[in-house]
Amino acid sequence: MLSNQEMDNVILEESKYVINTYGRVPAVLVKGDGMNVYDINGNSYVDFLSGISVNNVGHCHPKIVETIKKQAETLIHVSNIYYNIPQVNLAKKLVNISGLDKAFFCNSGAEANEAAIKLSRKYSKAFGKEGEIITMEHAFHGRTLTTITATPKPKYQEGYDPLPTGFKHVPFNDIEKLKESISNKTAAIMIEPVQGEGGIHIADQEYLKAVRELCDDKNIVLIFDEVQCGLGRTGKMFAFEHYGVKPDIITLAKALGSGIPIGAMIAKDEVSNAFTPGSHGTTFGGNPLACATAITSINLISELLNNTNEMGVYFTDKLKKIEEKYDFVREVRSIGLMTGLELSFNGSNIVQEMFKQGYLINCTSDTVLRFLPPLIIQKEHIDGMVSSLDDVFSKI
Ligand code: PMP
Repeated sequence: MLSNQEMDNVILEESKYVINTYGRVPAVLVKGDGMNVYDINGNSYVDFLSGISVNNVGHCHPKIVETIKKQAETLIHVSNIYYNIPQVNLAKKLVNISGLDKAFFCNSGAEANEAAIKLSRKYSKAFGKEGEIITMEHAFHGRTLTTITATPKPKYQEGYDPLPTGFKHVPFNDIEKLKESISNKTAAIMIEPVQGEGGIHIADQEYLKAVRELCDDKNIVLIFDEVQCGLGRTGKMFAFEHYGVKPDIITLAKALGSGIPIGAMIAKDEVSNAFTPGSHGTTFGGNPLACATAITSINLISELLNNTNEMGVYFTDKLKKIEEKYDFVREVRSIGLMTGLELSFNGSNIVQEMFKQGYLINCTSDTVLRFLPPLIIQKEHIDGMVSSLDDVFSKI
């Protein structure tokens, strides 16, 4: 039998059979439990990433595990030409918590955004619009051909042309530039209320209100991509609740399935009616296993909102002290437990050093350390992480 260390080497060696599309940390993770994950050698790490805002309720939450087991023993998948109970129940729940009217199910964030783009184009054709979609600079909407086109970063687009047409990009939080860019072709405006991959940029209060008014005025569909910032991450179920505005379409994925792949698009009736039988679909979308898990995820997340707010404030205060202490910390940006610390240099070495200290964090947009811990986090985890970060920073 192989020792753990030997097994570790075998897995790393045999990872050559996986197409290498990710810059990976050379660690083989084998187990998760609450705030912690463990590698094959038994080392434990405190997770400040939640698989990029997926494990919001913590790893292998007993109620998630129980739901998966129970549903797996009952019904895992049926074709969408039939109804299934968890799908209908999840749709009803999403409608209840969002205040919109109908849900469509798919398997990922990119797919939810594809659905939102398709739906808003189809809907607005009735008004003679030509399907133009406006998205924001520093946005991230996924990695399919259409969603990389919606994501205006050359790194994601290079080599993949010809890209779909009909996309325009404007600076985030700039209502004047947005107004200048719209035309009678504009079908939809798509925004992350808090940009995640772009480096934790939070929409201004007045901005989202003004965008809503603009969309109402010009009959433009407003899509909020809440794939990363939604489902409790910011201390409310949806990030847009901080703004007192409601979109026409919401897209979700990540934390919805607590690790079981699922995406969802929720829409207002008037818009969703543009989809009719045959308009859109996907084999696994809305399967009973994913939907049952999502219902449990939402229930658990709603119980964690208070902790998210409390711990979010505690964490931000601590990081602000770090910001004061080190010149190379440019800014701390935070809402709930969606937190970025911007450095004046590339942060990948810091990520590696923190890994050695037993913490999973990452770096986005080159210079922003990103923290997206499970919403079950307690003060002791924050104290430990910030003290390690202080240690790592002091050696620079
Ligand atoms: N939208 C946002 C805001 C995201 O952060 C992501 C993933 N990081 C996506 C869409 C794409 O989601 P997925 O990887 O599930 O396709």
